[in-house]
Amino acid sequence: MRLSRYFLPVLKENPSEAQIVSHRYMLRAGMIKQSAAGIYSWLPLGFKVLKKIETIVHEEQMRAGHIPMLMPTLQSADLWKESGRYDDYGQEMLRISDRHGRDMLYGPTNEELITDIFRSHVGSYKDLPLTLYHIQWKFRDEIRPRFGVMRGREFYMKDGYNFDLTKEDALHAYNRHLVSYLRSYERMGLQAIPMRADGGPIGGDYTHEFLVLADTGESEVFYDSAVTDLTFGDRAIDYDSVEQCQGVLEEFTSKYARTDETHDEALFNEVPEERRRVARGIEVGQIFYFGTKYSEALGANVQGPDGKQSSVHMGSHGIGVSRLLGAIIEASHDDKGIIWPEGVTPFHCGIVNLKQGDAEADAACESLYEALTAAGLEPLYDDRKERAGGKFATMDLIGLPWRITVGPRGLKNGVVELTSRRSGESEELSPEAAVQKIVEIYANHQTGRGF
Ligand code: ATP
Ligand code: MG
Repeated sequence: MRLSRYFLPVLKENPSEAQIVSHRYMLRAGMIKQSAAGIYSWLPLGFKVLKKIETIVHEEQMRAGHIPMLMPTLQSADLWKESGRYDDYGQEMLRISDRHGRDMLYGPTNEELITDIFRSHVGSYKDLPLTLYHIQWKFRDEIRPRFGVMRGREFYMKDGYNFDLTKEDALHAYNRHLVSYLRSYERMGLQAIPMRADGGPIGGDYTHEFLVLADTGESEVFYDSAVTDLTFGDRAIDYDSVEQCQGVLEEFTSKYARTDETHDEALFNEVPEERRRVARGIEVGQIFYFGTKYSEALGANVQGPDGKQSSVHMGSHGIGVSRLLGAIIEASHDDKGIIWPEGVTPFHCGIVNLKQGDAEADAACESLYEALTAAGLEPLYDDRKERAGGKFATMDLIGLPWRITVGPRGLKNGVVELTSRRSGESEELSPEAAVQKIVEIYANHQTGRGF
């Protein structure tokens, strides 16, 4: 993309309504624009990152054997009346009536709808296990929408639902979700720690929230600092292996890590004092096994091998796709702007032409642009007639992890400058070597082309 032809409405001033850094930078970098409280338009740069995050989530869900689909945002209230949640959900649910006076709602989540699909089409244990998911906009009329996309009213969420014959099978599905979530967050350059959470009115031990540590997080968390040493890495996993998935769950959840809702002071005090941490975190996902709550209420039964009918065991598993943009920025920025991890960066590399209009500099930039594009990467070429200082400030703000700077002086010696946004370090290289290096860096981070 050439910046002169892109739409990147960067703001020079700090918007006064933004209280936290991610919200401030998303507005300043021209990623989002508020349309109403907690409701945003996604401008091209924000949309691009949103789609990259979505792609990672899809890839990792499909890798785990979960099946993508799409349910609507608007739902009929009938199913919610059947499950009993129409009255329970309270004011967070946006209720609408259509021209015929029928009760509708903008879905805050999809347990009812998916269970209805299941009961209409599945009747035998032979069709199980089954996990269906979608990535769709949700609406919750939050009492206090704030922090930009972090707590929106309309937000983008992946929600998946497993259907299993037995509790044991459903817990394997739970573990599969835990593993796939660990992989997804790591690909986004994030550490999200599974913490034991509150099962709410349904109770039970089978729910974990994934938290990204950040001072601006809304949840108070208590943990053994040893959990922050755990990484999933690129280990191979067989998602059908009950043993392997269970092993990962044990590895990642056996150390103390809880949100304030389930915090147990006595247990926490058993952690060696120097490893006890009290901090804040951003919830970027949650997994939940809830047994037969919805299948009983909605009559989602299957016939077992013994010929008997029983309610299916279910769980629901969510990732806050739009919230993740805020969480990643909270975890990765400096005073100049965002620092995108390679896995989600909107463009792989920036090209800054220090002397636009200089025949040699222009030609060198064009050939870098072509070489990077031919290698399957997306560069953002700042080809505007602007001062170098302004170009650098924009690149730093929008946070591309790598920048190639091209100027007549360097070209005389056959070099361009390659700069890491994260470390600030630069090196002089031939244009070919710079391209080669960027290609190598991204060999491990392919997320496909953005939009
Ligand atoms: P919270 O406690 O933050 O209100 P929740 O526990 O009600 O969230 P879930 O139903 O678990 O949310 O939804 C799954 C994921 O969707 C959450 O982990 C979070 O990342 C994201 N999410 C929930 N509410 C919002 C919101 N208002 N804005 C943006 N993302 C949200
Ligand atoms: Mg939650």
